[in-house]
Amino acid sequence: MDAAPGVKTSPDFPIPDKMKAWVLGNPGELKLTEKPVPVPKRAEVLVRIDAVAICATDLEIIDHGSPALIQGGKPFNKNFTPGHEYMGTVVALGPGVDEYKIGQRVTVEIHAGCGQCKRCREGMYTSCHNYGLNYGDVDKGHRANGFTTDGGFCEYQINNLNTLVAIPDAMSDEEATLVVTAGTAMYGLTELGGLVAGESVVVTGPGPIGLLGVAVAKAMGAYPVILTGTRDNRLKIGKELGADHVINVRNVDVVETVKRLNGGKGVDYVVECSGAPNAVNEAIRMVNRGGKVCLAAFPHAETPVDVAHIVRNNIYLYGIRGEGKSATHRAEAFMSQKRFDATKIHTHTFALEDLPTAIRYAKDRVDDAIKVVVKAKGVAAHRVAAE
Ligand SMILES: [Zn+2]
Ligand SMILES: [Zn+2]
Repeated sequence: MDAAPGVKTSPDFPIPDKMKAWVLGNPGELKLTEKPVPVPKRAEVLVRIDAVAICATDLEIIDHGSPALIQGGKPFNKNFTPGHEYMGTVVALGPGVDEYKIGQRVTVEIHAGCGQCKRCREGMYTSCHNYGLNYGDVDKGHRANGFTTDGGFCEYQINNLNTLVAIPDAMSDEEATLVVTAGTAMYGLTELGGLVAGESVVVTGPGPIGLLGVAVAKAMGAYPVILTGTRDNRLKIGKELGADHVINVRNVDVVETVKRLNGGKGVDYVVECSGAPNAVNEAIRMVNRGGKVCLAAFPHAETPVDVAHIVRNNIYLYGIRGEGKSATHRAEAFMSQKRFDATKIHTHTFALEDLPTAIRYAKDRVDDAIKVVVKAKGVAAHRVAAE
């Protein structure tokens, strides 16, 4: 890293000038290159990336571009490094930074809003009105690493202080990469009203956010927590993470079954994590009158919805983007207090150089992969027993 005025470093953590970084070429094409190690500015630190998890949204960005937005457009052939679910060690402090120490382990959330727009001022920085404006003469200081700025499929990255979450020594690198996933579920539940103790919750779709959504809802005292999905092996993990009931939707009428499990009237909340074409219409029929539905998945196509049913029954729908209002800090608090074991969804680890293989495992669910992690410090690939 080039020395810059006011930037603090330590001989204990020597920083090279160049680093390995994967960059996105044409759709679906990742190339391993070298980039200069970035230099932290005011209110930023440099993080040495120790582990990064692959998210379904990374796969979407690599193949289709959206929702990444680089210089106002698609991210292809712009020397862009994707990856957003990473953790690591603070190795340099930008000018004036004393909130973190060199050598401290942190995990990161994605969005550093501009800090000045209406939504940022409300804590909704994942809905920043200056999303993607961080270049040239429209630099508003917004960053969303792996979406609008370079992300974590590399060795070092700069992060705004507001995106850092301190983690305890007892939390493994792999577990720390899952804080942002749990934080997304936490943000959804916060936006639905926050206090879910004794309230009934259905989570639809046992992907990573759905599975940790079950864990977070249960840790917050919700009852019953019901998980729906199509794959029994994932529903089993949902039970281990706290689901009171699981429903394989291939076998039964899911709306009827949810109602039967909850006194005939439906549940208070649905957290929709499947993105299935019929998911919204099912969700609005699973909630009781006045119930709330959190939409946390991105479906590929426009979805027809029974608006009359929503209006007649005073049902609330919430679109949820990311993990605002410091939800990652609340998720980390649950995880560091061992209120649930997020590592049940981590299945495989690969070296950073093997990113294409890791992506294939995540995309094709090879060997029942759920969360696949890559580590920069040279590891042999391994599968984690998910029993
Ligand atoms: Zn993600
Ligand atoms: Zn903003």
